[in-house]
Amino acid sequence: MKNRQTALKEKYDVVIVGSGPAGASTAMALSGQGFQTLILEKKKLPRHKMCSGMLFPSALRFISGIFGDIPQDIYSRPLSVKGVRSYMDMDSPFVEMAFSRRNRETDGISVKRSGLDKWLCSRSDAALVDLCSFKSCMKQGDEILLRVAMNGHEFEVRTNYLVGADGTLSRVRRTLFPGFDRGLGLFFNYEEWYAGKIDLEPGWLHAFYDEKLTGCFGGVFLKDGRIVVTNGCGQGKPVKEYFDVFCGYLQERHSLVIDETVANYGCVVHDMPAVDNFLTGKENVFLVGEAGGFNRCAEGITSALITGKAAGESILKSIQTGESASEIYLVAVKQEIERCKKAYGFMEKNLGVNPFTRSSNSPGWS
Ligand SMILES: Cc1cc2nc3c(=O)[nH]c(=O)nc-3n(C[C@H](O)[C@H](O)[C@H](O)COP(=O)(O)OP(=O)(O)OC[C@H]3O[C@@H](n4cnc5c(N)ncnc54)[C@H](O)[C@@H]3O)c2cc1C
Repeated sequence: MKNRQTALKEKYDVVIVGSGPAGASTAMALSGQGFQTLILEKKKLPRHKMCSGMLFPSALRFISGIFGDIPQDIYSRPLSVKGVRSYMDMDSPFVEMAFSRRNRETDGISVKRSGLDKWLCSRSDAALVDLCSFKSCMKQGDEILLRVAMNGHEFEVRTNYLVGADGTLSRVRRTLFPGFDRGLGLFFNYEEWYAGKIDLEPGWLHAFYDEKLTGCFGGVFLKDGRIVVTNGCGQGKPVKEYFDVFCGYLQERHSLVIDETVANYGCVVHDMPAVDNFLTGKENVFLVGEAGGFNRCAEGITSALITGKAAGESILKSIQTGESASEIYLVAVKQEIERCKKAYGFMEKNLGVNPFTRSSNSPGWS
């Protein structure tokens, strides 16, 4: 483990807000280059992140090439993820998209997100401070002055570069681009983890798109001896009511038996990649991963890793060439923007639905 949890200093070369895969990947791209880099995380690490924890083949390749072999204690069981089975309505058979068939790839793997994210961060030489929240920032000469909160106190930290890797509801994005979030379609996700039984095959993400059942979309996967049931609804729809309807359907049609509810979680996702609404930052501030809208339709970890690395490399190139860091970054992520759009296009073409635009509350969508 290279990086360590430390006390806050007054000045850094680069501050990264968020210790998810996007933040870890930025830190890794800068590691060993002599920078004073800080990762700020508002939660206590290792932190829970609502996520199926499936590493698609492209994420696996990225991680093994850049971060090394994933420690086995981060693996979930069953380890192998074969792909996605999509159920369009109550009565039709599922449509199977196996990773091996679609891209002539290997299978993906299932991991524990909390362990994965902490391990990814530990691979760089960045300092890591958890339980510390980014509050606001302002330009001050050539530097950026941040206000952060820790232990009930606010502190000022100065930096040359700021990376917003702070996820869906990014405070860095809201601070820099006030008003932008008002145009976003938001989806509320709810999930429960059960001890019990179900007749769905392990090793697949089972995705359900019947609006009457799920509100918008639902998912089931089996992980570490638990059945995980999740659903998401556009703003204004009663997500828990739909969740109960979805569970009733799973009990009736897929023999779901719940012995015990062991956990439940909720989170919000936005529609940025589904409606081609990416935001990359400005000047010496970058938005990476979900903060910038990057997600290949269920495959968000890959996009987070790729755009985080692009931000780190853009900082290095800007210092070497004197070119604008944000313009270098914009060019560097063009391909990933196309990749995200293609993922939604692929879904629409093959399944006939982009669930995020079907009931999005974004302007322009009916
Ligand atoms: C239900 C669900 C299932 C999913 N399943 C998969 C899957 O199986 N495979 C896949 O590839 N993708 C999946 N995704 C998408 C994936 O989880 C995300 O795309 C990915 O986590 C984005 O990484 P990130 O680093 O951009 O943000 P995050 O992983 O969200 O990390 C952001 C971090 O920033 C921190 N933070 C936020 N605000 C502040 C602040 N003000 N100050 C300091 N820290 C802050 C947060 O605590 C968090 O740790 C799923 C998403 C959902 C909602």
